[in-house]
Amino acid sequence: MKQLLAWYDANHRSLPWRLNPDPYWVWISEMMCQQTQIATVLPYFERWMARLPSVESLAAASIDEVLALWQGLGYYRRARSIHAAANLIAAQGWPSSAKEWALLPGVGRYSSAAIASTTLGEPVALVDGNVERVFARLTACPEGKPALQRLAWTWAEENLHQPDPGRWNQALMELGALVCRPKTPLCDECPVRAHCRAYALGTSEAFPVASAKPETISLDLTLSVHRLNGKVALVQQPEGEWWTGLWTFPIQKGSPTQKALGTVRAQVTHHKLSLHICLVDESPSDARWAEENELHAVAMPAPIRRAWSIVLRDG
Ligand code: SF4
Repeated sequence: MKQLLAWYDANHRSLPWRLNPDPYWVWISEMMCQQTQIATVLPYFERWMARLPSVESLAAASIDEVLALWQGLGYYRRARSIHAAANLIAAQGWPSSAKEWALLPGVGRYSSAAIASTTLGEPVALVDGNVERVFARLTACPEGKPALQRLAWTWAEENLHQPDPGRWNQALMELGALVCRPKTPLCDECPVRAHCRAYALGTSEAFPVASAKPETISLDLTLSVHRLNGKVALVQQPEGEWWTGLWTFPIQKGSPTQKALGTVRAQVTHHKLSLHICLVDESPSDARWAEENELHAVAMPAPIRRAWSIVLRDG
């Protein structure tokens, strides 16, 4: 599929970490792009590199500063993993293979292959959501997940373009992102349509075959906002909670017993949250007082920050 590489060379997006495929830049971009769209990542990436331009500066930064820079990207475990990995890299040096990359916190099979094939030229295949969809359509794969994932990895390994694995992997992912899109794929512009079974069948959008989704669970939670003398009470979410390490207003399960000031809706994994905001005049013993005019620098999840905007507007 030489056409794919030629198409990639002519059409790929110009992204900072492609212009500068330095291990630090590629690693941070891969971590930020997990479960987040590139357009959202770009301003975060630029802000991050301006503040933490090297792995040494990242290792020396506090976890609070790292979480504050990450704020709004969601899936905060990624930020904690990056910080832990930076300390390992600063002490031991950069990994020299995909296997070594995969030993670092937060770096899985996909990320280690993406980083090693791009920065080291190591011939390792990868599968992300884009490659999985391209594979499903090219082969008209009748399987849904998890069999689809397994077959996609085997296909990617068998079809890896050994002389230029980094460019090949990027090309497959870019094809999925720009042409073989989830909805309305641009088959007429596709460089590999001559090899595509789904296209030949006239059923491109029927692949990948849908797999059963986990049931969505609705949850009511109450946010207790305690304000006093220009300060507000916050608690730090413990290990094992959705927002580990981040600061929130005290959260109780269930709907409030008093009239709520407002409600913020949010989705976390397969949970649909309704966060009801209540103004209260007491807070738990483990709460800490934060200056209201310094809340912008505190690492808070986006839904909690939205709740705070409602308090400022209507409280
Ligand atoms: Fe995807 Fe269409 Fe190209 Fe097939 S021809 S790989 S369905 S964009």
